[in-house]
Amino acid sequence: MANQKEIPYKIYLEENEMPRQWYNVRADMKNKPAPLLNPGTLQPMTAEELSGVFCDELVKQELDNDNRHIDIPQEILDFYKMYRPSPLVRAYCLEKKLDTPAKIYYKFEGNNTSGSHKLNSAIAQAYYAKKQGLKGVTTETGAGQWGTALSMACAYLDLDCKVYMVKVSYEQKPFRREVMRTYGASVTPSPSDTTAVGRRILAEHPGTTGSLGCAISEAVEVATSTPGYRYVLGSVLNQVLLHQSIIGLETKAALDKYGITPDLIIGCAGGGSNLGGLIAPFMGEKLRGEKNYRFIAVEPASCPSLTRGKFVYDFCDTGMVTPLAKMYTLGSNFIPSPNHAGGLRYHGMSSILSQLYHDGYMEATSVEQTSVFEAAQMFARVEGILPAPESSHAIRVAIDEALKCKETGEEKTIVFGLTGTGYFDMVAYEKFNDGVMDDYIPTDEDLAVGFAGIPKFPGNEI
Ligand SMILES: *Cc1c(COP(=O)(O)O)cnc(C)c1O
Repeated sequence: MANQKEIPYKIYLEENEMPRQWYNVRADMKNKPAPLLNPGTLQPMTAEELSGVFCDELVKQELDNDNRHIDIPQEILDFYKMYRPSPLVRAYCLEKKLDTPAKIYYKFEGNNTSGSHKLNSAIAQAYYAKKQGLKGVTTETGAGQWGTALSMACAYLDLDCKVYMVKVSYEQKPFRREVMRTYGASVTPSPSDTTAVGRRILAEHPGTTGSLGCAISEAVEVATSTPGYRYVLGSVLNQVLLHQSIIGLETKAALDKYGITPDLIIGCAGGGSNLGGLIAPFMGEKLRGEKNYRFIAVEPASCPSLTRGKFVYDFCDTGMVTPLAKMYTLGSNFIPSPNHAGGLRYHGMSSILSQLYHDGYMEATSVEQTSVFEAAQMFARVEGILPAPESSHAIRVAIDEALKCKETGEEKTIVFGLTGTGYFDMVAYEKFNDGVMDDYIPTDEDLAVGFAGIPKFPGNEI
């Protein structure tokens, strides 16, 4: 056993130690995630049907339940090298502050201009679109991190980028919008009158501040009706979790260097991509019966898809233009209160994580906004990094688990994902600092409205 003090504050990998393949956790799952269904026929979506929406190589990755390792193309590896490997940090200062015997590590994904892990998949998706000879891509963005990441990737590859941005974020975060435009993306607040589905949603919900589900509908409509364009998505899909496995692979390589075995791995969960990526190689070991770890997904109490949602087939968007995905969902017409963790406001959850949670391989918990910002503030003050509100959900639970260790005297090793920085979230920090942040938790009646919109067909009862 290495002496605790021999472990540096930051464990960096060398460039030549970076993973050269993504890891596909589906290959090790006995119960595979359920396939996407065509909402018209209720049959699994074929590659041909999906290729109208996504570019061909990504369709292949989406449907690949068998190949354990997939080569990362050299061009993507080269881009990764501009901001990876990302550091795994030993949170010595936080441990001291908490006076806990627990050993806390965090994998920091905020060290790039987009400020989050989303760049890991953005560059992959843009690369395959470019390779196919497409003109451009369309997408939605909530808090703005995904749109920023995609606009960076598209600028690098000289690809056009059309972003539909949830209206409340478009208004609250003008600086995010301008970063995207600086990288050459066009940004439209959603719902908008530029699409048929946007006009319909505006007519049904006048004055709506929008949701990720609405913005997805608009972006998909534009992609499928504009020649040379495809749609890309920043989370939820199998392909995105595949690309994000780079986070977990690097984390594991860094821990292995020092012979460290985590007991507990924690991540925030919006659509599930950072958590799915962080836990992937560890989950693989658990699924193969080689090791045991605890995994905890942390979601906001205001948008509790895993902890209070239904595990059924549902639309991925509000306009019901996407395929059906089997996942923990609050219903595609659930519009969460405008809380301050925009990246965690999606109504559903990755099919992979949903299946793993359903099968008991992963736990989930929800936390309230004010306690999340208390954790964020403590973290910023002792560890120096100003965390994204999304990431701070994981910080909250990591702190809580470390405090439990203080009570029991257990020296557990805790790893959590610090997915990004919060510089564009100062309106939220301002609310917290002024003491006017509220903790909205939907009632069962509120949730029933969303559940009522879940499509009904034999075998899909809620
Ligand atoms: C988007 C985002 C998340 C949540 O998305 P997942 O797909 O669940 O990872 C978390 N943290 C940050 C900083 C984000 O930008």
